[in-house]
Amino acid sequence: MLPFHTRNYTFEMRKLRDITVSKIPCFWLNVPMTIHLLNCFTCNARLSSRLKTGMVCLLVETDQGPVLVDTGLGLDEYANPGWMTKLFRIITIMPFDPNEAAVNRIRRLGYNPEEVRHIILTHMHFDHCSGLSDFPNAKVHAHRREYAAFTEGKIRQFTEFAYLPRYIAHKPKFTLYEKVDSKWYEFDAIRLPFIPETYFIPLFGHSRGHCGVAIKTSDGWFFHAGDAGAVYDDETPAWLIKLVLGPHDGTLRAFMKAHPEVLVSNSHMYPEFFEQHPLLR
Ligand SMILES: [Zn+2]
Repeated sequence: MLPFHTRNYTFEMRKLRDITVSKIPCFWLNVPMTIHLLNCFTCNARLSSRLKTGMVCLLVETDQGPVLVDTGLGLDEYANPGWMTKLFRIITIMPFDPNEAAVNRIRRLGYNPEEVRHIILTHMHFDHCSGLSDFPNAKVHAHRREYAAFTEGKIRQFTEFAYLPRYIAHKPKFTLYEKVDSKWYEFDAIRLPFIPETYFIPLFGHSRGHCGVAIKTSDGWFFHAGDAGAVYDDETPAWLIKLVLGPHDGTLRAFMKAHPEVLVSNSHMYPEFFEQHPLLR
């Protein structure tokens, strides 16, 4: 955990930089861009008091303004919860606090949510995309298979019950990706049109078109592996992880061991993770 004064210092420096160079893109000035790690959905297990999670959404400063990766629960979800959220409030312990909504988190960081013109989705389960309508003018970047699964209206695996069409009722513009055009370490990758260098890493299984997102930082890479594993969870049995999250957990654990220089997260992380990594540069 970073000392409190260090976090304040970093925050104040960002404010100072933003005031000083407000409208000049960071990459022109060779100023490191920032990735904020935001917990946009706290959800704790009822059966184990140790299994507490916050959901990793990212606000990435890019050449095209702040880009959000996944949304967590949106404001409409708090006002008018969907049936999946109602179910989760029964089977898990959720604070259900709208202060956790990405749009509110972003405002508290000093951004205007209207600045967010792009949202990258690891996948389209309710907890990852219900906040899309808080950014109605943002273009949504997703894997074509994921969009097709979401809009098909047929349940082909049980995790697809978490696709709720209302979250795109405002008809956001989608940019869809399918063709692998790169390698990122040993993974197939799809380059996304942002600086810093950003890739979709297809990790299908948890959902039909689920992808991780790899983002270059000044120190190396941050790899947001979405719901494709539970790499910091040594309590949940492997068979259950495989059943719910798909086949990649073992691969991700091996990757982390081989590449300690890469910071890896899943979507649902232990709460201290956000204290340890409030932002990356
Ligand atoms: Zn999911």
